[in-house]
Amino acid sequence: MSSIIVWFRRDLRLSDNPALTAAAMSGQPIIPLYIHDETDARPIGGASKWWLAGSLQALDAELRRRGSRLILRRGATEKILEEVGREVDAEAVYWNRLYDREARDTESIIATQWKNHYAFNGALLCEPWALTTKAGSDFRVFTPFWEALLQRGEPAPPLAAPARLPAPTRWPRSDAIKDWKLRPTAPDWAAGLRSTWTPGEAAASARLDDFLQEDIGAYGRRRDFPGIVSTSRLSPHLAFGDISPRQIWHRARTRAAAHPAHESGAASYLRQLGWREFSYHLLYHFPDLPRRNWNARFDAFSWRKDEAAIEAWRRGRTGYPLVDAAMRELWTTGWMHNRARMIVASFLVKDLLLPWQAGEAWFWDTLVDADPANNAAGWQWVAGSGADAAPYFRVFNPITQCMKFDPSGAYIRRWLPELGALPDQHLHRPWDAPADILQQAGVVIGETYPRPIIDHTPARDRALAAYARMKRNI
Ligand SMILES: Cc1cc2nc3c(=O)[nH]c(=O)nc-3n(C[C@H](O)[C@H](O)[C@H](O)COP(=O)(O)OP(=O)(O)OC[C@H]3O[C@@H](n4cnc5c(N)ncnc54)[C@H](O)[C@@H]3O)c2cc1C
Repeated sequence: MSSIIVWFRRDLRLSDNPALTAAAMSGQPIIPLYIHDETDARPIGGASKWWLAGSLQALDAELRRRGSRLILRRGATEKILEEVGREVDAEAVYWNRLYDREARDTESIIATQWKNHYAFNGALLCEPWALTTKAGSDFRVFTPFWEALLQRGEPAPPLAAPARLPAPTRWPRSDAIKDWKLRPTAPDWAAGLRSTWTPGEAAASARLDDFLQEDIGAYGRRRDFPGIVSTSRLSPHLAFGDISPRQIWHRARTRAAAHPAHESGAASYLRQLGWREFSYHLLYHFPDLPRRNWNARFDAFSWRKDEAAIEAWRRGRTGYPLVDAAMRELWTTGWMHNRARMIVASFLVKDLLLPWQAGEAWFWDTLVDADPANNAAGWQWVAGSGADAAPYFRVFNPITQCMKFDPSGAYIRRWLPELGALPDQHLHRPWDAPADILQQAGVVIGETYPRPIIDHTPARDRALAAYARMKRNI
């Protein structure tokens, strides 16, 4: 009997995987295939590679429990699909859609190569073309987009994982995952990732359970404080498809129905998933989102060039404790709290006047949840060049943000132990602390902790002047 290839991509799970379920229902032998395509115009970054290795191993283990296995192949996607198709006499390819330009281009090629191809939605609550404004155009503002999505009613319930997956009589050759060198060795910088995360479907489900039990009720009140664990931290699992948004949606709604006190926390949480949907909507309708200003007026903006400043920002050595704590959290764990992302992004594009693309690229390389839509939309939101973005003149003050969202300094102390002994009231601007306090805390500004690389107040004025010039020039 000819077989079906299920081409896995950022949908590394068995449950609520529409392509896999449809293939399983055919009764034909299934070849689960993952292709590591290094010819991709935008290869994934180092932290994402680490995650991918874990998710692929977890997926293979789950497949083996069902009498199947994951075939790994490296090369140009269309060539590998053809090759494997010939090897196993496959008659069809099934996959779940992705929405960035590179992925869509690849899908179009596969669709012309394979007479029998079937594509599904496994990544979103609602596909980007399915929602339009009353005038029939794409959405540019979040709130009406979200209301339109809610008006469609509940998303379809998630699909159960197939109990058995028919195996072919002969398996095609598979690479060994270690040969792909997805995990760093020399140097091995992934210790912090290993101690923070467990990639894979089972871990995603367990994390969601924990979040629903412990944190969803207070989510709306606590989600802005980077020093406390109060958000779901499901973003890397979502980025690789260890879990689907429909699964999250339905489990959150079920929890809220059983615990009415959690209703408002659940609504506020699902609204964040709405931002993910909105980012995909934007990316689909403006595929250049990771590269070009969504708002073309920003093409006239004059960014600075300053490699030393970018490097200080990347390494968490700007002299602003909240910015540095966040950048070190990112470097160590591959993740950063949302509030902290907004603050470090504002610092880069406004205080330092450096292009948002430089920050987007660093995040792309270092985040375990690097996502083509969310990352680009997040950066453009902060830069003011995006859809429904923060206005450029709203410049985050890295000191007052820190006092407001990390009042006890828990976050700063965690990531900047060199400032740990400073009393709370000096933690947010250590350079202003009296000499005896610094001495008692063992802090020498400029030596044990950097002096601020820029003064926020004049930097803010400079940013606003650059914005005013841009407006004059267009
Ligand atoms: C500059 C910048 C860059 C970002 N880059 C990414 C990225 O590469 N990948 C990524 O997944 N998110 C990104 N975000 C969005 C957000 O910071 C993360 O999704 C969130 O911090 C992940 O933590 P969580 O899973 O605990 O979120 P929760 O608060 O538990 O939210 C649940 C889910 O909703 C989605 N979500 C939450 N906030 C947002 C948001 N503002 N925009 C879009 N989706 C959201 C995520 O999928 C998240 O996992 C970025 C934000 C900014 C400001």
